[in-house]
Amino acid sequence: MSERWIAETLYSGWGQRFGLVYELARYRSAFQEIVIFESASHGRVLLLDGVVQITEADEFAYQEMIVHVPLIQHGNARRVLVIGAGDGGVLRRVLQHAGVDRAVMVEIDGDVVRLMREHMPSIGADSWDDTRAEVIIGDGIHYVAHAPDNSFDIVLVDSTDPAGPGESLFTETFYRDCARVLTADGIVVNQCGVPFMQRDELGNTTQLRARAFKWTSAYIVAVPTYIGGLMTLGIASKSPVNMIELDDIKHRARQSGIFGRTQYWSPEMHSASFTLPPYIACLLSVGKPGIGED
Ligand code: SAM
Repeated sequence: MSERWIAETLYSGWGQRFGLVYELARYRSAFQEIVIFESASHGRVLLLDGVVQITEADEFAYQEMIVHVPLIQHGNARRVLVIGAGDGGVLRRVLQHAGVDRAVMVEIDGDVVRLMREHMPSIGADSWDDTRAEVIIGDGIHYVAHAPDNSFDIVLVDSTDPAGPGESLFTETFYRDCARVLTADGIVVNQCGVPFMQRDELGNTTQLRARAFKWTSAYIVAVPTYIGGLMTLGIASKSPVNMIELDDIKHRARQSGIFGRTQYWSPEMHSASFTLPPYIACLLSVGKPGIGED
């Protein structure tokens, strides 16, 4: 039994706590409080403003699903923009795709990148030094507002929740800019929280995405330390996105080089993740067509 604990402060009346082995960093940056510690159960853990962002034990689930689903779904993604994701895990998964020749990551807080590289280096691994990667310390809102039209095939928004520096990543203006910088068949994905606990997040952002994109949907991933049930990832495109057959998913995964290298994503999980339980599906009802419908 641990003698010292670190409790997540995401919800006022309920939560999870980790047995603390030792703290590696506690630092107040210009944007948020960054805490990294060795836990008794989940390896190293990153908290931002008291909220779990990543643990070494289960990071693969979220990172693989936020990256591989849209890239495989697109089928020919070469230019990828990542917003947030200062831990480097998303960048690493993007660069696993052989077809990607440019990955731009824009993270607002340079101290997250610095401390993650120092204390949890396996998360970003060698992606930081990949010649295809460009890491920019800056505001994602500002970056998309000034990026040229049609300059990306995929935009991945791996942000904190809609409070603090992440708040303006959940606005109509931001989604309209994402739509503008994406090609006609480009895809945007952003984290929409755990609907059982954060019910408004998926519903509200779906409404906003629907103003900028013709097709909008969501898929699910179970991340043990994003507590409260299934987590949702919102997905949208200016063109209707048709679900691809299992054999095509396998073929694309082999071609991209990710087949057999994943712990959560698989062709079957890819397909299944768009099947939503009714309590989540009802949050998407904004009068827009569903998957494969025009
Ligand atoms: N995958 C984890 C999750 O979803 O909880 C990790 C999230 S990642 C660490 C979130 C990052 O988004 C943070 O490092 C935060 O600094 C960054 N962020 C928040 N607002 C941002 C903005 N406007 N532009 C760029 N990055 C931003």
